[in-house]
Amino acid sequence: MKSIRDIYKIGKGPSSSHTMGPAKAMSIYVSEHPEAEAFHVVLFGSLADTGEGHGTDKAIIMESDRPVTIEFNVVDRDLPHENTMDIYSIVNGERCNKMRVMSVGGGDIRIEGRGDPTFSDVYPEKTFDEISAFCKKEGIRLSDFVYLREGQEIVPFLYDVWATMKNAIHEGLTTSGILPGGLEVERKAQYLYNQRHIDESPITRENRIVCAYAYAVSEQNADNGTIVTAPTCGACAVLPSVLKYMQERHNFSDRQIINALAVAGLIGTLVKTNASISGAECGCQAEVGTACSMASAALGELFEMGINQIEYAAEIAFEHHLGLTCDPICGLVQIPCIERNAVAAMRAINAVNLANFLSGSRKISLDLVIKTMYETGKDLSHHYRETSTGGLAKLYMNQNKSGEEK
Ligand code: SF4
Repeated sequence: MKSIRDIYKIGKGPSSSHTMGPAKAMSIYVSEHPEAEAFHVVLFGSLADTGEGHGTDKAIIMESDRPVTIEFNVVDRDLPHENTMDIYSIVNGERCNKMRVMSVGGGDIRIEGRGDPTFSDVYPEKTFDEISAFCKKEGIRLSDFVYLREGQEIVPFLYDVWATMKNAIHEGLTTSGILPGGLEVERKAQYLYNQRHIDESPITRENRIVCAYAYAVSEQNADNGTIVTAPTCGACAVLPSVLKYMQERHNFSDRQIINALAVAGLIGTLVKTNASISGAECGCQAEVGTACSMASAALGELFEMGINQIEYAAEIAFEHHLGLTCDPICGLVQIPCIERNAVAAMRAINAVNLANFLSGSRKISLDLVIKTMYETGKDLSHHYRETSTGGLAKLYMNQNKSGEEK
C-alpha cells in the first residue's frame, strides 16, 4: 500500500480527477515535447461529459506555453478508464506522438505503457484486518502504526495539510457572493456561521458550525480555491470540518489533530488500494462515502477509542453511503456536492457516537464494506458516475427546459 501522502494533495479545486489529474498529464506532456508547435487533447468518458463544468479544459490549457485545442468526445465508450484523455503534438500541421492518460482519482494519473508514477509502497499490509492484527500484537495505536511505516517525516507533511485545511475554512467563512459556473449558487458558509440563536441547543449549534465549516471548504473548492484532497476535491470538506469543530470544542492540540489525520489517511489509502476513490469509477460513495469514513475514523482516534471501535466508526460511516450516485448539475462541483459534504460531516459524528455505544456487536468489517462499495460502483450505470447524464443533473435540466418552454 502507498503512502498516505497520496491521499492528501494540496491544490486548487474543483475536481482532483477532472482538473488536477489532467493538468498534471498536460504538464508532463508539454515538458516532454519541446518540438511541438501546438497540442491537441481529446477528452473521453466522464472527462468529456463533465469536463466543461469541472473546468478540465481551462486546467489543461493553463499548463501549456503553446496553443491547445480541446475535443470533447462523448461518443466513444470503450475506454480503459472512465476518465481517459489522449494528448497529441502538432508538428508541421500533423497530429503525432499520442500519449494516453487515465485520471484515476484524487489527482493521480496512469500513463499508458508506463509504470505507476506515484509513490512506491510503504505498507506491506493491504487490508484493515492485517493492520488491526499487527497493531494489536504490538500494542500500538493506528497513528503509531502510520508513523512506524511512513517514518516521522510524515508529521511535518501532515502539519502542512492541517494548516491548508484550516486556511480553506477561514477563507470560505470570510467570502460571500455567487459561485462561478452559471448555476447562480450563493455561498452560504458565512451566513450559516452567523446564525446564532439565544436558545440554540448544543446539538443544533454543533450541526450548524460543522456545516458552516464544511460549506466553507466546499465553496472554496467550487471557486478554484486551495484545498486538500481528502480523498478528492469534491469530498474535501468532510474531514477538515469535523476536526476543526472538535478541536475548538474539546481543546485538542494540533498534534492530536495530526494523529487523527494520520488515521484518516490510512482509511483513505485502504479504499484507494482495494477499491476506488473516483466518482467517475464508482459514484459519490467512493468520494463522499470515503471522506465520511475517514472523518469518522479520525474522530475515533481523536477520542482515543480502541481499534475495534475505530474500525466500527469507519465502517458505519461508509456502509450508509453505499449506492450513492454522482450526478452534479451542469457538471459543476456544487449541487449536490457542497451540501453533501456538510451532511456527511454530521454523519461522521453520528457514526463515531454509534460505534462508541455499540462496539463489540458488529458483524460487518471495514474491509467488507470497501469491497462492497467497489462492486456496487461497478454495477452503477454510467449515468450515475460523474457524467451528469442522470439523476439530479438530468431531471433538474429537464425541469428547467420545460419551465422555459411554458
Ligand atoms: S456528486 Fe460526489 S462524486 Fe460527484 S462531483 Fe459531487 S462530490 Fe464528487
